[in-house]
Amino acid sequence: MKYIDGFRNPAVAKAIRARLDHLAAGLPADRRLNVMEVCGSHTMAIARYGIRDILPANLELISGPGCPVCVTPTSYIDAAIALAEKGAIIVSFGDMIQVPGSASSLATCRSQGGAVEIGYSPLRAIELAEAHPDREIVFLAIGFETTMAPVLSIVEQAEQRGLKNVSLLSAFKRVPPALHALLADPEIRIDAFLCPAHVSAIIGSDAYRPFAEEYHLPCVVAGFEPVDILYGLQGILEQIRGGEARVVNQYARVVTAGGNACAQAMMARYLEPVDAAWRGLGVLPASGLGLRAEYARYDAERRHGVTVGLGRENPACACGDVLKGKLRPPQCPLFGKTCSPDHPVGPCMVSTEGTCSAYFKYMRPQ
Ligand code: SF4
Repeated sequence: MKYIDGFRNPAVAKAIRARLDHLAAGLPADRRLNVMEVCGSHTMAIARYGIRDILPANLELISGPGCPVCVTPTSYIDAAIALAEKGAIIVSFGDMIQVPGSASSLATCRSQGGAVEIGYSPLRAIELAEAHPDREIVFLAIGFETTMAPVLSIVEQAEQRGLKNVSLLSAFKRVPPALHALLADPEIRIDAFLCPAHVSAIIGSDAYRPFAEEYHLPCVVAGFEPVDILYGLQGILEQIRGGEARVVNQYARVVTAGGNACAQAMMARYLEPVDAAWRGLGVLPASGLGLRAEYARYDAERRHGVTVGLGRENPACACGDVLKGKLRPPQCPLFGKTCSPDHPVGPCMVSTEGTCSAYFKYMRPQ
C-alpha cells in the first residue's frame, strides 16, 4: 500500500474518486456492484463524509449487520428489564438504554425506579459489586469480538476479588457467521465486503479468507477515515476488474493477519461457541460466544433464570431488513415520521452505529 499522507486529504480523496470512476466505467454496462460495509462505524463514517454521494453510479454501498446494539433481539431488553424489576443493578453501555423492548425500555424502567446505570467502563460493574454486596449486579454484555475481552475483565476481576454478586447477561456475537448467513440468503446479492476494522483488529484479516476462497468475494479491511474508505473501495474495484478475490488488509496500521493474540486467549479461556439469536437473521448456530460451564456462576441467564431468545419484534419496524442490506432506511414507512432519534421505534435509530440513525443524521433531505 502506497503511503497516503493525511487520511482526510481532499486532493488524495479526489484522486481516488477519479480512479474509482475509471475502474467502474470499465465494467459491463449492466453490471451494478453491491459492496457491503459490514461495520456500523463504517456506516456512520460513510454517511458523515457523504461518501455515497460521490461514488460511481454503478457502485452501491449497502449496510450490513455490524451494529451490536441493533442485532441484539428484543427479548434481551425484556430480560434485562425483568432483572432490574427483580432488584438487580443493571450496568450497560449507553446505547442500549433507549432501545425499545417488547413493552418498555431500560430508560423507562429507570424512570420508574429501576436501578439502571450507564457504565463507561466494564469495571464499573466491579465497583458497584464491591459497593453493594447485598445487591446483584448484572452487566449487559453485548458486542462483537471487539468488546469481548474488555468485558471479560469483569469475570477476571470478580474471580480475583472473590465477588459473588456480579454476572453478565451475555449476547456476544461473532461477525463471520453472520456474513455466511447473508451469503446463504438468495434475496441478498453481495459482490464484495468492506470488512470491519475494529473486529478485524481482534480476529485478524485472515478470518475473511473463506469468503474470498469459497465465495470468490473480494474482502478489503479498511479504516474509518474518508481516504481509508475510498481506498478500500478502490482495492475492491481493482480486484473485481482483475477477476480476483483476495483478502487485502489496507488497515495495517491497526490490523494484522492473525489478530490480537491476548484478546483471543482471554476469549478462549472464558467463552465457548453457542447458538445466538440475531435480530433480522434469526438463530444462527455457533454464531455467539457464551460463558463456559465452569464460569456459569457469572452467567446472568443461568444464575437468575431469565432467557434470551429471538422474542417478538415490533412488526412495524423494518430493522431486520435494514440489517441485512435489503432495505435502506428511507424505504421504511416510519423513517423520519413516527421513528426518529428522539422517538425511536427500532434499535437502528437509537444506536450511534445504527444505519437508520446515520441516514437520519447525515442523509435526510432538509
Ligand atoms: S426507521 Fe425506525 S422503524 Fe424503520 S427500520 Fe429504522 S429503526 Fe426501524
